[in-house]
Amino acid sequence: MPFRPLDELDDLEDIELPKLLPLRRICSTKACRGTARPGGRHCLACHARAVQRYRDRHGQQLATRRRDAAAMRDEATCAADSARAKLAMALRRGTMQRGLCQRCGTAAEVLAIIEDPQQWRDVVWVCRRDRDVARERRRDEEAQLAASRERAAWAEERTRVLAAIELLPPDIRARLHALAAQGPAGSTLSPEAPLYMMNLVRVYKASRDRGR
Ligand SMILES: [Zn+2]
Ligand SMILES: [Zn+2]
Repeated sequence: MPFRPLDELDDLEDIELPKLLPLRRICSTKACRGTARPGGRHCLACHARAVQRYRDRHGQQLATRRRDAAAMRDEATCAADSARAKLAMALRRGTMQRGLCQRCGTAAEVLAIIEDPQQWRDVVWVCRRDRDVARERRRDEEAQLAASRERAAWAEERTRVLAAIELLPPDIRARLHALAAQGPAGSTLSPEAPLYMMNLVRVYKASRDRGR
């Protein structure tokens, strides 16, 4: 058989690559050829059987734990749980239907949000993605609120301390201002520097605490 000339082989596009086999993990159960669940060792059927076996063996224990957990719930959690249970029942009976995401209109992965457990029929349906977005936004808003509260508290304290310093004898006032002007590494801060103001509040409070 004649060899193919080398220059022909160099043209790699002509050589077909072997097809990659799709990655598939086999269930760890002996003699089972099922596909393992993502992140699990067993196939769905074997996993379900294992869970059932565990429940059968530990039924008493699980019931006790469930009862204890139920007894520990506070009133608000009880109300929320009961609202969720009523909704689940209504969905099973078909007296209520799962809605579309209020924000994007998808029907996929829609979650029920019950604002008021007493009005559990007033469900807001929202998809998982939009729920996460809303959660993230709420967290941001809370962080911003906390930051602005902190800023307001600082402004108030600064005003209070400056007013108190004005009432001190001139020599003590001068001493506090001299201390406040001491910047990092022997530098001198100008009275407009934010650090100057922070120093001033700090040295004033420290001197007042000592004077007590
Ligand atoms: Zn299996
Ligand atoms: Zn959505």
